[in-house]
Amino acid sequence: MSNPLTPQVLADPVSLTRALVDIESVSGNEKEIADAVQQALEGCGHLRVERIGHNVIARTELGRAQRVVLAGHLDTVPIADNFPSTMDEKIMWGCGTSDMKSGTAIALHLAATVAQPRHDVTYFFYECEEVEAALNGLRIVGEQRPELLEADFAVLLEPTYGAVEAGCQGTMRARVRTHGTRAHAARSWLGSNAIHQAGEVLRRLEAYQARQVEIEGCRYREGLNAVRITGGVAGNVIPDACEIEVNFRFAPDRSEAQAEVHLREVFGGYEVEITDSAPGALPGLTAAPAAEFLALTGAPPTAKLGWTDVARFAALGIPALNFGPGDPNLAHKRDEHVEIDKIVAGADLMRSWLS
Ligand SMILES: [Zn+2]
Repeated sequence: MSNPLTPQVLADPVSLTRALVDIESVSGNEKEIADAVQQALEGCGHLRVERIGHNVIARTELGRAQRVVLAGHLDTVPIADNFPSTMDEKIMWGCGTSDMKSGTAIALHLAATVAQPRHDVTYFFYECEEVEAALNGLRIVGEQRPELLEADFAVLLEPTYGAVEAGCQGTMRARVRTHGTRAHAARSWLGSNAIHQAGEVLRRLEAYQARQVEIEGCRYREGLNAVRITGGVAGNVIPDACEIEVNFRFAPDRSEAQAEVHLREVFGGYEVEITDSAPGALPGLTAAPAAEFLALTGAPPTAKLGWTDVARFAALGIPALNFGPGDPNLAHKRDEHVEIDKIVAGADLMRSWLS
C-alpha cells in the first residue's frame, strides 16, 4: 500500500492531521501508522530515524548547543462512530483529531520541513499512551534507551487549545483504616464501631484547607478527597473495620515522599497505607528554549492540573510543557474535533520558534 504521508501532505499540517486521523490506530494497533511515519521520516535526509516497537524517534544532529524534544502519541482511544474524519472549512471531526493527532501532525510537519532548526530536535512519536502505563512507549524507550530522550527542554503536543500548560501535579492514593471490635448489634456496648470512628477521618477531610501554590507564575491547586468508603459485616454486627480511600493531588513543589509525610500527618492516629502514586513535574520555564517558546506564545502559562507524560521528562530532569491545538475538553468524546485555525496557528508558532 502506498504511504498516504506524501511530501505534499507532510508540507501541510491540516492535510497531515487528516491523513493521520484516517489511519486507524486505537492503542495496540499502531503498526500501520508507525510504519507510515517511519517511512515518511526516512525520506528526509536531515533526520536520523530509529524504530523501537511502534515508536519512531527522529533526530537532527547539527551540533547545536541545545536539544529540544517534540513528542506526540500515535494512538487513540476506541473509535465511537467517528472514523474516518469529516471536515468543513473550520472544523475537522474524528477520533484523535483533538487528542492528539493534530499535535502529532504539527511535530511531524516540522520534522519533515524544518531541515535547519535553531536547536537540535528529537521528534518522538510513540505508542500506547491511552492505556496502562506499563505499555506506554515513552516510558519503555525512556527506560531502555534513556539517551534518546536526553534534551534541555521538551514540548508534549497534547491538547491545550493553543495555551501553554506547564509542569503537572502529582497524584497519590491511600487507604485510611479504622479498627474496632465486633459484637452483636443487640449488645453493642460490648464492641467498638469502626464505621463510627471513620467520622473523625471524614471530618478532617471536610475541614481540610487545600493549599494553592504559585510556581513560576503557574498556580497549582491541590486537593485531598475521599473517593471510596467501605466497611460493615452484616445487619446485626458491630463492624470492626472500615476503610476510606483518599486521593491526594499535590503541587509539584512536593516530592512523593513529602506528599506521603503530609498524608500521614493529616491522618495521624490512623493506619495509612499508600497504594499508588506518581510524581508531579515542576514547570521549569526558566530553561532558555522554554523561555523563548513562552515569549513567542505571548500568553502566561497555566498549571497542568492532571497527570501527563511531561512528568516522565521531569523525572529525567528535563523541563517539559504541554502545548497543542486540540481542546482538551473534547478528548475521548464522540464529537471530538479540532479547529483548523488552531492547527495552523500552532504550526506557525512552533515553526518560528525552531527557525
Ligand atoms: Zn493524549
